[in-house]
Amino acid sequence: MDWIRGHTIGHGSSAAVSAAKSRFSGEVFAVKSVELSKSQLLQKEQKILSQLSSPYIVRYKGYDVTKEKDKLMFNIMMEYMPEGTLSDEIRKQSGRMNEPLIGYYTKQIVQGLEYLHSRGIAHCDIKGQNILLGESGAKIADFGCARWIDPAERGGDAEAIGGTPMFMAPEVARGEEQGCAADIWGLGCTIIEMATGGSPWTNVTNAASLLYKIAFSEQSPEIPKFLSLQARDFLSKCLRRDPKERWTAKQLLKHPFLEELNLNSTSTNQNFVTKSPTSILDQDIWNSETMYSTILQEVISPLKRLRDLSSNSGECDWRWNDDEMWITVRSSNNE
Ligand code: ATP
Repeated sequence: MDWIRGHTIGHGSSAAVSAAKSRFSGEVFAVKSVELSKSQLLQKEQKILSQLSSPYIVRYKGYDVTKEKDKLMFNIMMEYMPEGTLSDEIRKQSGRMNEPLIGYYTKQIVQGLEYLHSRGIAHCDIKGQNILLGESGAKIADFGCARWIDPAERGGDAEAIGGTPMFMAPEVARGEEQGCAADIWGLGCTIIEMATGGSPWTNVTNAASLLYKIAFSEQSPEIPKFLSLQARDFLSKCLRRDPKERWTAKQLLKHPFLEELNLNSTSTNQNFVTKSPTSILDQDIWNSETMYSTILQEVISPLKRLRDLSSNSGECDWRWNDDEMWITVRSSNNE
């Protein structure tokens, strides 16, 4: 496809996303790009995204390699989602969405997850930042951490565990497994993000103590008390610590919280929009999307040391500076 790159619309840890326009048809779309020499992860994302077709997944339009300012760039073309991310929308709503709007977006995310999981793919990084909004509502995006669940599909290779610590399921934080159930935990955390505008875990000061708490405490994120009984019950099914007890996307679609939602009367989310004054998202550690192998080396593997520190002082006291809060994300081997 012959196209012209427009302004930058987003920056992730691994790639830049720009608006683009087809020279031939004038169609506007989004292009996610990275230098070809560093494009291993984007190429994996392209392989997965190119196999998907669902109204609840951002639509793939193709890929190419371009030469720009003497650099070879690897590009994935996708549909343009004009309303930004779900996290942007939460901020626009002063940090707290009303419950019908939460239900509206939740149902679309669960439909997207059900589609993905039925095809043997786990997203592995479900969070508000990776849900994009458009006219038809919410779609799942950013397949940079996604993986085939069946090892045979990925050539038998063991894949590194990835994702964002604040949204990580206990079994992922312990390095045991990362499959569909971990996406459901991420969904639960995203619902808390929609309901409170805050992080699922509070009173954590650094990624080490956060991961330790997720992995080894008996706790799940606190379910907001102001939600309806149905919404709280739904959340409790998403946030069960044992992945085997967590509900599947298919089961969740039958939960009264989603089943009784009447989406027909709400062709746009505007019907649900209200303003309520609460704090906005705290954007530090919970956005530090981290390659698990990095955490494993830098944070989790010295568990004994952490335990010792905790038991000696009553509290973990790992200080770090601002740079260290942002742990390298999805670093490919050649970086
Ligand atoms: P991350 O650090 O979360 O891994 P990333 O490098 O994988 O990020 P994306 O999350 O895919 O990149 O995209 C970065 C940002 O670009 C998004 O948060 C969003 O604001 C914007 N964006 C991505 N895809 C689209 C799209 N199809 N339409 C509109 N905006 C998009």
